[in-house]
Amino acid sequence: MSSLHLPRTPESAAAPPVATEYVAPRLPEDLPDAYCEGDIATIPLVQEPHRASWQTEIPERYLAMDADELADRIRGVKAALGERLLILGHHYQRDDVIRFADFRGDSFKLARQAADHSQADFILFCGVHFMAESADILTRPDQAVMLPNLAAGCSMADMAQPQDVYASWDELTSVVPAERTIPVTYMNSDAKLKAFVGRNGGAVCTSSNATAVLQWAFQRGDRVLFFPDQHLGRNTGKKLGIDPRDAMALWNPAQRMGGLTAEQIERSKILLWQGHCSVHVRFKVDQIDKARAQHPGCKVVVHPECTEAVVDAADADGSTEFIINYVKNGPPGVYAVGTEINLVHRLHEEVKDQGKTVFCLDPIICPCATMYRIHPAYQAWVLEELVAGRIVNQIRVDDDTREWANLALQRMLEIV
Ligand code: SF4
Repeated sequence: MSSLHLPRTPESAAAPPVATEYVAPRLPEDLPDAYCEGDIATIPLVQEPHRASWQTEIPERYLAMDADELADRIRGVKAALGERLLILGHHYQRDDVIRFADFRGDSFKLARQAADHSQADFILFCGVHFMAESADILTRPDQAVMLPNLAAGCSMADMAQPQDVYASWDELTSVVPAERTIPVTYMNSDAKLKAFVGRNGGAVCTSSNATAVLQWAFQRGDRVLFFPDQHLGRNTGKKLGIDPRDAMALWNPAQRMGGLTAEQIERSKILLWQGHCSVHVRFKVDQIDKARAQHPGCKVVVHPECTEAVVDAADADGSTEFIINYVKNGPPGVYAVGTEINLVHRLHEEVKDQGKTVFCLDPIICPCATMYRIHPAYQAWVLEELVAGRIVNQIRVDDDTREWANLALQRMLEIV
């Protein structure tokens, strides 16, 4: 390890071969809702049908490598870099990627892991863009955070473009006082929006702590602007006794004043940005009915990014970590789960020897289309570039954004 002359910062690296940055696609035209064309086994990158819209700068030699060859290469870099390298893997990553993660988790748990690992010079974030941004904000400036494929965004995060949120805030606070209106952004958002809530007295939340963050917000104001996920906002507000039909309103950023009247805005305790997760809105109440008919007594657990009707029909709802614990700590039996398929498959494998069967409510295999873009070929490429002394695909948040977004993230970490 000591014989490797690795850069500590991108400035010390040899000219990186990649300068591409993540650019949020305009939705819905550019981004499929979910990837539903086959099974989820890893195929060589060259065979991936949507590869043309992924990051294309990867050297050609990686395109035809199969999962075993890529795994050998990744293992080699991990052994060479030791503790200087930290690999974080989100639960929605495919098996061939997450098996190399030093830590697995949802976005909240991984944000904490990034913040807690000051010994790591390099953090490879196997997740999506907003997660890598948060990791960069929570780590020291001389720690390099990298995203294997710069095209791995989040369709929900892209539904709240910073300019749209700024314009909406101006319109909203022309009707109600800014000092009594608290902006809360879900972790799944651009770093500029985290900075925006930091500047305006708000906080970031995740699905693990959304209830606590909303309670915190209502100790400071009368009203919350919640973005980008309307469903998490609605489902969480309901848990606090706020009636979605009476005291929440949907803010459509494409319309003037969100498409609302001044009276509707004044009456609302929560203004819900019109965004959603394209994976979780696939779950329907009739899937739950069918699961219960086919497996009497089964337990249904879903993510709060599902619609209100689905959450109401389920036995329980909560973050990815909650779902894992619900199944692992529950009695033997059948569990129907409403969240991303890679997690559901792994969970089944982990608990099947305990007399538990876990299946996905959605009968069509549907991984998150953007998480799926983290193919092990990108993982191997970025890691081997490190060994060659080059940092590629680094995610860096500018200093001003970093300062304010960090404030909003620290508030989140302190609220729990
Ligand atoms: S599962 Fe939904 S919220 Fe999560 S990264 Fe994919 S699109 Fe975004």
